[in-house]
Amino acid sequence: MILTVTLNPSIDVSYPLEHLATNTVNRVKNVRKTAGGKGLNVSRVIHQMDHDILATGFIGGYFGQWLQHQLDNEGIPHQFLSIQAETRSSIAILHDNGNQTEILEAGPTIDRKDANKFLDHFDHLLPEADLVTISGSMPQGLPETYYTLMIAHAEKQGVKVLLDTSGATLTHALDAPLKPFLIKPNDEELSDLLKHHVDKNDLSTLKQDLQAPVFAGVDWVVVSLGAAGAFAKHGQNFYHAVIPKIKVVNAVGSGDATLAGLAMGIHDKQSDQTILKTAMTTGMLNTMQATTGFVDPAQFQIYFNQVTIQPS
Ligand code: ADP
Repeated sequence: MILTVTLNPSIDVSYPLEHLATNTVNRVKNVRKTAGGKGLNVSRVIHQMDHDILATGFIGGYFGQWLQHQLDNEGIPHQFLSIQAETRSSIAILHDNGNQTEILEAGPTIDRKDANKFLDHFDHLLPEADLVTISGSMPQGLPETYYTLMIAHAEKQGVKVLLDTSGATLTHALDAPLKPFLIKPNDEELSDLLKHHVDKNDLSTLKQDLQAPVFAGVDWVVVSLGAAGAFAKHGQNFYHAVIPKIKVVNAVGSGDATLAGLAMGIHDKQSDQTILKTAMTTGMLNTMQATTGFVDPAQFQIYFNQVTIQPS
C-alpha cells in the first residue's frame, strides 16, 4: 500500500463566473467542491490507477467530516488524525476568459500535543505501508523540521519517502542524515535550492546542477519541465523524459499526478524507464481533464507508448 500524507487538506471550491465584479454581489450557479490539497490529488490519481493507497494527515471539524465523506464516496481509504480546529477551504474563482483568482485559507494551527500525536499515528500506519508520499506545505504551528522528523520515522521502519515540497521544509529534509528517497522540484524550486537561476532549457547545465552536494544521498531527483517532460537523476544515471505534444485542458495538479506515477512505478519495482514513463503519463493525463487531480486510466497505455526516455 502507498501511504499518502496531506497535513493541510482543504475543501477546494471552484466558482466559475463569466465576469468577476468587485465591491458588489457575484452570483454563482455551478459550484464545485472537492477534497483537495496536493496529497489528496496524489491519492486520487493512485486510486484511479487501481493501486492500493491510504490517505492520512490532520482533519478537523464539520468541514473535515465533509471531506472524509467525500473521500468515502470516491472509494479512497483514509485514516486521518482528528483535531479540534476546522479543516480549511480554498476558493478558486474562474473568470473573465481564463483568469483565476484564488482565496486560500491558511488552515488550522497545530499545537505541540497534536503534532506529537500525529507522529504516533504515523508510526502505527507505517508497518502497512510499502512507500510514503508527502506533499505540499505544512499547516501553521509545526516546526520547519517536521517533514524531516517524519522521514526519519519512516526510514527507521525501512519505508521510503517521496517528498514534494519546497522552501525551508525541503532544505531541512536535504540537510538531515536520513534523506527522502525521491524529491520532485520544478525549475523554480531547484533555483531556490541551489541559490542560482536554473535554466530548464539547458539540459547539460541541469545535469551538472543535479550533481550538487545538496542532493547527495537522495536516490531520485526528478525535475518536471511541463510540456518539455522531465529531467531525472537516479543514482549515477541521468535521463531526459520526452513527451508528445498534447491538448492541455487544465495543468493544475499535474505535478501531483506525476508524483503519483513515480510512487506507483517505484512501488511496483519497475525499471527506471518505466517509472519515468508512468509518471509522465499520469502527469499528461491530468492536464487533459478539467478537474484537478483526475486521470482517465483508459487512456494510459496510448500515452505511455508515446513517451521516450533518453539516457543523458
Ligand atoms: P509542477 O506542477 O510540479 O510544476 P509540471 O508543470 O512540470 O509540474 O508538470 C508535471 C508533468 O505534467 C510534466 O512532466 C508533464 O508530464 C505533464 N505536463 C504538465 N504540463 C504539460 C503540458 N503543457 N503539456 C504536456 N504535459 C504537461
